[in-house]
Amino acid sequence: SDVGCQGDRVVTEEEWLHKWEVGNIGFHKEQGHPLLQKYLDILLNGRSGLRIFFPLCGKAVEMKWLADMGHSVVGVEVSEQALKEFFGEHNLPYSEEPVPEIPGAKKFQSTSGNISLYCCSIYDLSSSIVGKFDGFWDRGALVAVNPRDRQRYVSLMINLMEKNSSYLLVTVSYDPNKHKGPPFYVPESEIKSLFG
Ligand code: SAH
Repeated sequence: SDVGCQGDRVVTEEEWLHKWEVGNIGFHKEQGHPLLQKYLDILLNGRSGLRIFFPLCGKAVEMKWLADMGHSVVGVEVSEQALKEFFGEHNLPYSEEPVPEIPGAKKFQSTSGNISLYCCSIYDLSSSIVGKFDGFWDRGALVAVNPRDRQRYVSLMINLMEKNSSYLLVTVSYDPNKHKGPPFYVPESEIKSLFG
């Protein structure tokens, strides 16, 4: 098929946590992503003080960039280690508290208040917990979602969209029969049918 042999593959949460533990995080970009710089104007569209969502955020440095520009950033990530590394590497003091609506989840918030990172599965979130967003940075997120969960993931993203929101999505084109990842190949036709 056009997704090669990736269709039935699953990367479990435990496997992600393990990648973080052993430092197998080749996806992390120390210098941030050039495509966010390139398309920043499309994301912001002249607006200031936006709420911006980072699904499957890892320790993406772009969260710091956008917060420094005066936006308010919310991310979600299963690895607590990733979130602690994010605050540590940017010398940002933070607080940690439980999330009443989600058993076992934690919310890490910068003391300045403009970065809130949820440690839980993306599928535990809803707009009643995190609100809606004006902008989205989806890099290493849709392409990391297990193919069987894509529709659910995209429905959630649509549910989190404020009117007139902008969604920047980064995918990678390659021959899925020749390469194993980044984790999953998402053809453009599928993106169109998922997002409508
Ligand atoms: N967007 C980040 C990280 C990409 S890698 C970046 O650009 O660097 C994908 C990340 O998603 C990993 O850090 C992994 O731990 C996390 N993850 C995987 N499944 C998840 C889920 N169901 N909910 C939340 N985070 C998840």
